[in-house]
Amino acid sequence: MISFNVPPCVGTEEKYIKDAIAKHKICGDGEYTKKCNAWLEERTGSPKVLLTTSCTHATEMAALLAEIEPGDEVIMPSFTFVSTADAFVLRGAKAVFVDIRPDTMNIDETKIEAAITKKTKAIVPVHYAGVSCEMDTIMDIARRHNLLVIEDAAQGVLSSYKGKALGTIGDYGCFSFHETKNYSMGEGGAILIKNEDMIEPAEIIREKGTNRAKFFRGQIDKYTWVNAGSSYLPSELNAAYLYGELEQADKIFDDRMNSWNEYYKAFKDIADAGKIDLPVIPEGCEHNAHMFYLKCKDLEERTNLISFAKEHGVQMVFHYIPLHSAPAGKKHGRFNGEDIYTTKESERLVRLPLYYGLTDEDRNKVIDVVRDFYKNR
Ligand SMILES: *Cc1c(COP(=O)(O)O)cnc(C)c1O
Repeated sequence: MISFNVPPCVGTEEKYIKDAIAKHKICGDGEYTKKCNAWLEERTGSPKVLLTTSCTHATEMAALLAEIEPGDEVIMPSFTFVSTADAFVLRGAKAVFVDIRPDTMNIDETKIEAAITKKTKAIVPVHYAGVSCEMDTIMDIARRHNLLVIEDAAQGVLSSYKGKALGTIGDYGCFSFHETKNYSMGEGGAILIKNEDMIEPAEIIREKGTNRAKFFRGQIDKYTWVNAGSSYLPSELNAAYLYGELEQADKIFDDRMNSWNEYYKAFKDIADAGKIDLPVIPEGCEHNAHMFYLKCKDLEERTNLISFAKEHGVQMVFHYIPLHSAPAGKKHGRFNGEDIYTTKESERLVRLPLYYGLTDEDRNKVIDVVRDFYKNR
């Protein structure tokens, strides 16, 4: 069976993990964490990047830094992973869902303003499949209404919008290094901080509410508990794994992009015949080949394609069940305006196998399966 994901491994991860063990430094914020932070700062241009235990936790940190309180409202798409909403709902906020655009599956920026109330605190654009939301419009709305922007860039590592790295455009950006993402550490993530005044509060929240980071820099002679916080720093073992991958990020990027382009070319004629829809990359957006999806005619056709593929040894998956139709979404959220595309488009979307190291042979098999399925349709 060709699986839809295989966690990335470039071969140097084990060496770095062993090195961390040999140096007797396996808790957080050692050499490898610092190297990853520095690499991410350099590549994205962010003033401060801090590795976290997950993207979910990076988003929780952003919610804490944004001082989200019970009764606040946070605007986001319903077509996203649960973590986008969880981080704010945990602080007592209401998730206000806005419809998506059918072309990119991203939040429809033209529908955000109508969802703003006196209680709105933040907008959370999700860069689906590593393709940027319309950030100029979103940042303009945020500026005019005095709202924070927290980018869920879980899928957007090394993607950009008009030359700016995703995660660096809003007040905070959140990356994921989960095993299903382009670069991985098993479980992990990072928070990107734009406003330099928020770096110290972020360090404190991440380190159990202490000013330990300042202590390690020699700026104070003992560290103490200065605020409420949690533990959002990953182990050095995970950071060592990630560092191996970041060093070879371009190799991973090119390999994924090659598969993405091959898929696109192979299905272009089926799309031109009007049978399926392919991903759209708007002008000014450079994506990172995080995902290759296609959209079938409807739910029934998608179900048939997934079982046809399974019979032929190819795993294809769908996502997401829109959050507003899930039990927790009903309890903690509301959909603002009409659901024109969220449900309809999510029901036709299917993801094809795409990972670092996908062989030409396996990719061609996936292509054949899809082409066979659509031959007589
Ligand atoms: C993967 C993902 C997350 C969660 O990432 P974790 O690192 O597993 O917490 C959040 N949002 C989106 C859009 C994702 O794809």
